[in-house]
Amino acid sequence: MSTQSTTQLTITRPDDWHLHLRDGAALEAVVADTARQFARAIIMPNLKPPVTTTEQALAYRDRILQALRKAGGNPDAFTPLMTLYLTDNTSAEEIRNAHASGQVYAVKLYPAGATTNSDAGVTDLLGKCTKALEALEKCGMPLLVHGEVTDPAIDVFDREAIFVERVMKPLRRAFPALKVVFEHITTKEGAEYVRDAEGPTAATITPQHMLYNRNAIFQGGVRPHWYCLPILKRETHRLALVEAATSGSPRFFLGTDSAPHARGLKEHACGCAGCYTALHAMELYATAFDAVGKLDKLEGFASFHGPDFYGLPRNTGTLTLVRETYQVPAELAFGNTTLVPLAAGEALAWRAHA
Ligand SMILES: [Zn+2]
Repeated sequence: MSTQSTTQLTITRPDDWHLHLRDGAALEAVVADTARQFARAIIMPNLKPPVTTTEQALAYRDRILQALRKAGGNPDAFTPLMTLYLTDNTSAEEIRNAHASGQVYAVKLYPAGATTNSDAGVTDLLGKCTKALEALEKCGMPLLVHGEVTDPAIDVFDREAIFVERVMKPLRRAFPALKVVFEHITTKEGAEYVRDAEGPTAATITPQHMLYNRNAIFQGGVRPHWYCLPILKRETHRLALVEAATSGSPRFFLGTDSAPHARGLKEHACGCAGCYTALHAMELYATAFDAVGKLDKLEGFASFHGPDFYGLPRNTGTLTLVRETYQVPAELAFGNTTLVPLAAGEALAWRAHA
């Protein structure tokens, strides 16, 4: 496809396979943004306290749909796909209950201390979680992995590459039939690992990691709205991620990792990690695919590869992207404070019409 001449693109309605919605007023402020563009989203369980049981996941699901209704969205047109937060103590029975509920679709591994609200995370995956992993493998439910080691001796820019060697490879060997999604990959090592790994292995890729390298964090001063975890990497890695996402390989699919934090907690002496992209996710992805002339690969990445990997039906609705200027708002309402979206104030060349 000659991308430059494309002025409009209609694709099967996409899903977001990695999303943070938070809770309470924050949830109410952001949930309608996701529901506008996506039919389904995998909801991250790192609340305070974390969502570790099916009962908690189902209650959270209800709060999400209530918040969507309150925000003027249509709860019948959006399905939250719930997840459990894996801990050292997650039992096989809890996994079986989660699967049997029909509302929980995955379990998330956070290495203890890796990111926002991950203190309850796993300290030793293959030492302490084998029963839970066996149960997951057996019921065909994916393990979603935050793939960074948390060893403070490892450079923050190297934590994903080291994780591949220390955790992903032994995990793959120990549980060859387990579905594993390496979430928000950020490196060439991560992309190549997923491309070549044996067994059912996939990865999500965020818009920020396709559009920016680490220079964006420091351009003209420290820019906290470009700070996320895993952190942006150097240009060689960004190019590898763009290549993976636009390759057409069914192992790579859309996961925004959109993570709202109040403006004051980003612009802070110890600012939170996370980029807010739910508002304009498809505009950002279209920009990234268009930049390399691969708009024809966007639908597979955004709408087919995810449900195919999870074993869910593809969506039936559509979403249309039009080549027209979209001005990213400078900030958004967020409870009694504000939220700054990624690329605030900038102009993008694509606009989504849901
Ligand atoms: Zn995340």
